[in-house]
Amino acid sequence: KSLFVNVGERANVTGSRAFARMIGEGRYDDALTVARQQVENGAQIIDINMDEAMLDSEAAMTRFLKLIASEPDISKVPVMIDSSRWDVIEAGLQCIQGKGVVNSISLKAGDAEFLRQARLARRYGAAIVVMAFDETGQADTLVRKKSICARAYDLLLKPEGVNGEGGAGFPPEDIIFDPNIFAIGTGIDAHNHYAMDFFEAVRWIRENLPHAHTSGGVSNVSFSFRGNDAVREAIHTVFLYHAIRAGMTMGIVNAGMLGVYDDLDPALREKVEDVVLNRTPGAGEALVAFAQTVKADKAREKDTGGAGPDAAWRAAPPEERLKHAMVKGIADFVVADTEELRARLEAEGQPPLTVIEGPLMAGMETVGDLFGAGKMFLPQVVKSARVMKQAVAHLVPFIEAEKLRSGGASKGCIVLATVKGDVHDIGKNIVAVVLACNGFEVIDLGVMVAADKILAAAREHAASVIGLSGLITPSLEEMSLVAAEMQRQGFSVPLLIGGATTSRAHTAIKIAPHYAQPVVYVPDASRAVGVVSALLSETGAAAFKAKLADEYTQIRTRHAEKQARPLISLEAARANALRTDWTASPPPVCPPVCDCAAHQQSVTATPYRPPRPQEIGVTTLDVDLAALRAYIDWGPFFQTWDLSGRFPEILDDALVGEAARNVYNDAQAMLDEVIAGEWLRARAVFGLFPANSIGDDIAFYADNRRVAPLMLWHGLRQQHEHASGKPNLCLADYIAPLSFGVEDWCGAFAVTTGLGIETKLAEFNAAHDDYRAILLKALADRLAEACAEWLHERVRKQYWAYAADEALDNEALIRERYCGIRPAPGYPACPDHTAKNGLFALLDAPRNAGMHLTESMAMTPAASVAGFYFSHPGSRYFVVGKIGQDQLEDWARRVGMPVEEARRWLAPLL
Ligand code: SAH
Repeated sequence: KSLFVNVGERANVTGSRAFARMIGEGRYDDALTVARQQVENGAQIIDINMDEAMLDSEAAMTRFLKLIASEPDISKVPVMIDSSRWDVIEAGLQCIQGKGVVNSISLKAGDAEFLRQARLARRYGAAIVVMAFDETGQADTLVRKKSICARAYDLLLKPEGVNGEGGAGFPPEDIIFDPNIFAIGTGIDAHNHYAMDFFEAVRWIRENLPHAHTSGGVSNVSFSFRGNDAVREAIHTVFLYHAIRAGMTMGIVNAGMLGVYDDLDPALREKVEDVVLNRTPGAGEALVAFAQTVKADKAREKDTGGAGPDAAWRAAPPEERLKHAMVKGIADFVVADTEELRARLEAEGQPPLTVIEGPLMAGMETVGDLFGAGKMFLPQVVKSARVMKQAVAHLVPFIEAEKLRSGGASKGCIVLATVKGDVHDIGKNIVAVVLACNGFEVIDLGVMVAADKILAAAREHAASVIGLSGLITPSLEEMSLVAAEMQRQGFSVPLLIGGATTSRAHTAIKIAPHYAQPVVYVPDASRAVGVVSALLSETGAAAFKAKLADEYTQIRTRHAEKQARPLISLEAARANALRTDWTASPPPVCPPVCDCAAHQQSVTATPYRPPRPQEIGVTTLDVDLAALRAYIDWGPFFQTWDLSGRFPEILDDALVGEAARNVYNDAQAMLDEVIAGEWLRARAVFGLFPANSIGDDIAFYADNRRVAPLMLWHGLRQQHEHASGKPNLCLADYIAPLSFGVEDWCGAFAVTTGLGIETKLAEFNAAHDDYRAILLKALADRLAEACAEWLHERVRKQYWAYAADEALDNEALIRERYCGIRPAPGYPACPDHTAKNGLFALLDAPRNAGMHLTESMAMTPAASVAGFYFSHPGSRYFVVGKIGQDQLEDWARRVGMPVEEARRWLAPLL
């Protein structure tokens, strides 16, 4: 019996843009969540890769590994340190406990280097992946696969001699050969035998290189069938079936993509095997043709599952129809079906409540089970909930409200709210739907809800749990306040915490200490049900709470230790500011592909002169929504729905592809309506101003006389001890100091695409259509980001015009391949949210764009983005991180704010 080990691949900065961003922005807590999720999803080893040009890979690798080491639920599985650089691998090996795996070494640079690395790996007790690669390149034939692996095996096993002679004395069971999986069915004859070569190589290794393991990246094999999941999944299943029989022991696989060989449709399996085993000429073309029909069949199935006239399910009795509609999320017939059943039951002398307690509850239960088992995804659940809601809405007039509440045996009441000062509620709304689907009664208080109101509602409804949500960092403080208030008022129910800037560590360290009852961080909507069920379980709650308390103690201890990471004084940090020699040499250069005018100049002209905008002052633009469409970054849209994967690949994903495609198609259709029906209005305002830095501040001037600033922006500077040569950055470093007498400029912008959204939201709410309401909000957010991208491009190319010739596609824009940055207040390079006060006044954003600020500095409409423009070719996003008491006091003095107030605003940095 073979033991097949699957390796989780998502903690990889080259493979996952989301993970790369988390690491780039220093959001290691989130990155840990990625690793944890893989373990939870069944990965038996996790691969970690930090190979990115813009990253200090070694530092990122060691930091991440050290964090993993103190996470029991992650470090229970071994780590595969993945890098093309040996120094990164070795630094990583020094940070892991237990046995690690090196991925990878090869004979690429000859025997000596291969042996050096292997010996070191042995000394660290690590296993190694050996790629079938030598001085002449990849092993692409069976003969070469065998000969390279044999050569490597001999070198590795030979005992290590003195003076660097001999081999590596490597234990054979710690060797994992990767004999290269290449794509088949490419249309090129030479590729047809690749899978067979792999099986043969694996078999040969098993028979001839005793104890060695074999591995490979399985998804590669089906690469030419992208776009057809059913076929890809079948190929992987067949491939693994044969590979494992040949002796393959390990693989980088998408665990959810593995079907069961015996369950495959025999006709499909036959065709796939023709290709994988290279049994018949022309098998690739035959499979492609067959694949078309598989695709078409699937599409047809979907049609009849929807509103198609020939839909077989419409012939079933109404109970069945309601259940089907619920599981499939089809709302088209729900009112008619509900009414039909209600009328029949009434004739039979049964109350209308039976409709809810019977088929609706049964349907919802199925949905909950499927979701819990990972077979259904959020967009589908929200659609199912819509069916339920609409059915219930139809029944309500027939049932007295009181009966409805007592009758629908609720598992408990949960009060949810977005805290005071915050307006973001997409995540919270999804959580509300998911909880309601699972039989909990949910009282959703909406956004900007003060502590008193939340607690009064909790009392009124005898809530069993309270849930708080928020997106911006000031909301973190507000959540602590609510917790403290719950303690003061003698509450005893658990408190849930969720939202983009919240984290387990923050919950444990900053919020939980205020309240004696459980305070639980809920990382995403799919966890909500599990957490609430555990908290309210009569038998399991005690154990859950004990485990939580334990976990929090650990987090706090670890945090206290981490605090040891040294801060330097503000004075020392300033002495180590970024030095741009504004009078002589060129500044650091742009991202690799950028060839903007400023960059050209920085290369050719000495000294560097900041580029002068075409025009100074504030410009307001009406924005055509249709023009923004091409600028949308769809990646975060899928994250909203807890669908993980890169866009557009996610649409073909084996596990979530169908859910992703459906919600994407719904979004495209709604976008058509948004544009055609003018559901939303967009406004954009920006200003370009003469500016100079004064210490860590930036002065924005009305004109080139540069006296009496319109606005002073007060920057925060990194205070961590840095490796020598790395500056302690502050955004002000990117602007020429006033004292140098060099003319410089800086910009500010504010955009919104959420004007008028309430009308449609009210309509959807009246129709009990959470799905469309959430979809519209998510789209408005996407459009706001797209608007920021669009405006930034116009500013670079036209208004400031320092990159007039720039020609980047949307992918390059999303990857920020342009010159300059647009840091946003509240984000890591300028974590101070109060900067929005000055920015809004400078641009008169209320009048020019219809945008306003709440008391916590959240922007309304919620679909808004604001920030500053920097043109400096060396400007980068960075993380200010923790600051010292000295900087807090200095900043408070510069801003003119009492230190205690400043401490509240900057709490997350202290
Ligand atoms: N394509 C993404 C863009 C938004 S996130 C989307 O559609 O969602 C990227 C933006 O976040 C940047 O343009 C910048 O405004 C802000 N940002 C990211 N990292 C930052 C940092 N370290 N400091 C300040 N702002 C940052």
